[in-house]
Amino acid sequence: MHVGPSIGNYDVLSAAVQPNIGFASPEFNSAMKSSLEGLRYITGAADSYTPFILPGSGTVAMESVMSFIPRNSRILVVSNGVFGDRWEAIMSRYPVAIKVLKAEAGKSVSLEDIDHEVSSRRYFAVAMTQVETSTGVKLDVESVAKTVRNKVDLIIVDGVASIGGENMQAARWGIDVVLTASQKALGAQAGAGLLVASRSAIEKLREESISGYFADLRNWSDLMNKFLAGGGGYFATPPIGTVFSIQKSMALIRSETIEARIKRHEICSQAFRAGISHMGLEILASEKLRSNTVTGVIVDGIDIPDFLQRCMKKGVEFGAGVHPAFRDRYFRVGHMGWVKPEHIITALNVIESSLEEIGKEVGHGSALAAEEVFSKHH
Ligand code: PMP
Repeated sequence: MHVGPSIGNYDVLSAAVQPNIGFASPEFNSAMKSSLEGLRYITGAADSYTPFILPGSGTVAMESVMSFIPRNSRILVVSNGVFGDRWEAIMSRYPVAIKVLKAEAGKSVSLEDIDHEVSSRRYFAVAMTQVETSTGVKLDVESVAKTVRNKVDLIIVDGVASIGGENMQAARWGIDVVLTASQKALGAQAGAGLLVASRSAIEKLREESISGYFADLRNWSDLMNKFLAGGGGYFATPPIGTVFSIQKSMALIRSETIEARIKRHEICSQAFRAGISHMGLEILASEKLRSNTVTGVIVDGIDIPDFLQRCMKKGVEFGAGVHPAFRDRYFRVGHMGWVKPEHIITALNVIESSLEEIGKEVGHGSALAAEEVFSKHH
């Protein structure tokens, strides 16, 4: 139950192993087509959006958005933590001007601050993060998009820790670019960055490029359209196994439906938090900002790495804290991908017993508190 790669599914992970199938095969072309179409489905992108699957990871997808941005543009970054700050780290390598609005750990930049900023200066783009993996904070991207839509040319959302587990309606909310990665709430093999781009974003590819070579979407957009039309081609070798894994994940998402999948994430996250509250532990994200996919749990007075090792020995892996303001005081739990009630129950039992071992009293019965949440939804 790390924050990514997330909880596995044997069929999805093993779909990556295919003997003697290369990137020029009809099987691969078909896997790309259904994965690209699936990507539109889970992001609420209309057919006018171009979907991309790139070799690499979420960071490659983030960096590829520089393809849409003209030289000397001004960009507003809404950062709720470490991954919001990654936008600044990437964009500062390019000839653009960046302004970053930062939130305290566990909180979110306010709509008022965003509105004030886009109303007082002309920004070309706004970049944000739907679920901030360092804290588990969910940004209300629908409201942010509504606030900035008529004032900027391009709205970009990092959905690496959210797509497949949180609602995203790119077309309806007017978001130009939504990106994600294969190993998080899609629960597929690591190895790909994925994004959808609106027609208006794609039109910006006609302008001079400031992006490098590999992640310049000018090199990839015709190829993606060829896959969508049933054909194929080459720009750089794709992550073949990962694409087969994504294809299987998308097929399972379609049969579950994205709405039911998001609901499953919501219920599992609520049940997990009920168990944590039963232990008397604090959750890093403020109450109204908690996500379906990631929870940061604060435990003062213990050695967190030692605690995580003890959990690992019992067969459950969690993530260490990474936000500098809270680094040694919390750990992170990913409840995404193929998460089921039994994962939540096991995680709570393992947390409870590992804390007991090191003399941190949290009582018993947290799994029952989670069970109560599950039983309400049966
Ligand atoms: N954005 C968010 C919100 C993330 O959680 C991560 C990965 N933890 C990234 C970007 C970077 O993705 P990757 O590690 O796949 O490059």
